[in-house]
Amino acid sequence: MRPTVLCFSGLDPSGGAGLQADIEAIGQSGAHAAIACTALTVQNSQQVFGFEATSKALLLAQANAVVNDLPIRCVKSGMLGTTDNIAALADFLREHPDYYYVLDPVLVANSGGSLGDQATLVKAFVELIPLATLLTPNTVELRALTGEDDLELATQKLFAMGAKAVLVKGGHEDTPDHIRNALYIDGELISETRCPRLEGEYHGSGCSLASFIAGRLALGDELQAAVNYAETWLFGVLKQAESPVPNGQKIPKRF
Ligand code: PLP
Repeated sequence: MRPTVLCFSGLDPSGGAGLQADIEAIGQSGAHAAIACTALTVQNSQQVFGFEATSKALLLAQANAVVNDLPIRCVKSGMLGTTDNIAALADFLREHPDYYYVLDPVLVANSGGSLGDQATLVKAFVELIPLATLLTPNTVELRALTGEDDLELATQKLFAMGAKAVLVKGGHEDTPDHIRNALYIDGELISETRCPRLEGEYHGSGCSLASFIAGRLALGDELQAAVNYAETWLFGVLKQAESPVPNGQKIPKRF
């Protein structure tokens, strides 16, 4: 049986983001994906219409059902939706300190739609940050999590909050011709990658990247190798992304 990543993530009916992105990306990384579903969202490639979160009890029941069943090496979280779900995941991770944990601190959809109450989610994430092997915030999430506008100071603040490693994703920064990602481990800048900025908006790019990293960690890669492999893979699947409608975000073609 392939090493498994257990994802705590929500359903996106468009198939671009959320648990479908996780399953496809982890499959492409070579690992097996299992899902504890945190929420059912109602959205398409253009906007989020709403969501209903899973109860804490049901979320934990899903995760616990596979713990002794699958060779779980890594947990990945995306949309958690409620502070109850964040607390449930924190309890679960404390019971399984041997799992790697990739925390993608999802607050809003790329289309701008709400995936939970941002202020309460930000406060609750404080409990998860020290449990993570790697955090993968974009710069909007990084600023929201730390309340700090300067990116270097914000990153250092995450380390002060207990982070072990942080991949800062620069897609939301005003760099018209490229995107810069920066990987920090224990507060130190370890690697910087720049790729050309592709035209358009993408749905599920963050989910795909974090999940591919989680898959490679589950398979035994070192953190920096897993991140760099995932960045190269993501650029390829975004290059061939498909536009469902002229105004929608593009859906990465992960196969
Ligand atoms: N998880 C779910 C269920 C979502 O619907 C979204 C965005 O719509 C995300 C996560 C985050 O997506 P992205 O990878 O585009 O940041």
